[in-house]
Amino acid sequence: MLNFFDLSFEEIAGRLSDLDTRPFRTDQVLRWVYTLGVDDFMEMTDMPRALRESLAVLWDLRPMREVERTQTVDGTVKFLHILDDGEMIESVLIPEEGHNTLCISTQTGCTMSCAFCETGREPGGRDLTSGEILAQIVYAVRYTGERLKVRNLVFMGMGEPLLNMDSLLAALEVILSERGLDFSPRRVTVSTCGWVPGIKRLAAEGPDVNLAVSLNASDDVTRSTLMPVNRKYPIDSLMEAVKAFPVKARRRITFEYVLIEGVNDTREDARRLKNILQGVPSKVNLIPCNRNYSGLKAPTQGHIRTFQEWLLEDGVLATMRKSRGQEIGAACGQLRAAVGGK
Ligand code: SF4
Repeated sequence: MLNFFDLSFEEIAGRLSDLDTRPFRTDQVLRWVYTLGVDDFMEMTDMPRALRESLAVLWDLRPMREVERTQTVDGTVKFLHILDDGEMIESVLIPEEGHNTLCISTQTGCTMSCAFCETGREPGGRDLTSGEILAQIVYAVRYTGERLKVRNLVFMGMGEPLLNMDSLLAALEVILSERGLDFSPRRVTVSTCGWVPGIKRLAAEGPDVNLAVSLNASDDVTRSTLMPVNRKYPIDSLMEAVKAFPVKARRRITFEYVLIEGVNDTREDARRLKNILQGVPSKVNLIPCNRNYSGLKAPTQGHIRTFQEWLLEDGVLATMRKSRGQEIGAACGQLRAAVGGK
């Protein structure tokens, strides 16, 4: 059976027209699947039974299976899914007032080997198909019971999204289409470790979603130690690509900055950050480093606040992210550690 979510609207329409010539069938199916989150063709009761039976053997609406679900006291839910070939991926649903943010994966592991990240600890894995990316969202929609309850999407789970560009672009088409999941591009953020060719391609070919860059250091030596991608694309070349990225009015590029005690948390770091971000509509998101295998740790809460104040004094918009889901390994840089990494 084919993963339904791997199919473009045109492919769905083409196959459907072989079975039923009425032109409205495609939109009927799309509405059941993407708007109502139905995962069984037999429940699509406004279509003839024979057609539903044919579709049920043709297309798979449950291309992955949940093998584990963990929840913290603050309501953060981590789903562990197993894919057709036995690979596993995680997505994390983070509740906020009145809505949720879903963090999704784009690869089953990661080759980028960032020092603070559990996913990249054992490089490997494979790219997800666009259908496997979409299935994570549809699964969360079914879990919350309503498409509108999942308001924000962040591509910050396992993997580097810009290394899986074809699947990412195909998934974004469905995510943003009114016939698909109908998300506002303002509510979708693609986060990269700084894969410069990907930033350029997203700028040229992608829709106007938000960009987040995992920066984490203010100089090349430190950044190359924390993030090997910096040896290939140092800060200057990264910022050149970021400056060319189209940013809509009243929007900003987010720079994630994992604060690590004694590594990237000095007054000098804050000053250099200001210089790096000069001329970019930006926001720095400070994230306390989660406890991890490499022994890196966050500065004290007091020091994190001081670092934020230094940035604010220098005119850099900086927010502090409360680390959510840490107790279940669902926080930034912790995904997949519990199942052994890739
Ligand atoms: S932080 Fe992102 S890019 Fe870096 S190793 Fe982890 S998953 Fe890969």
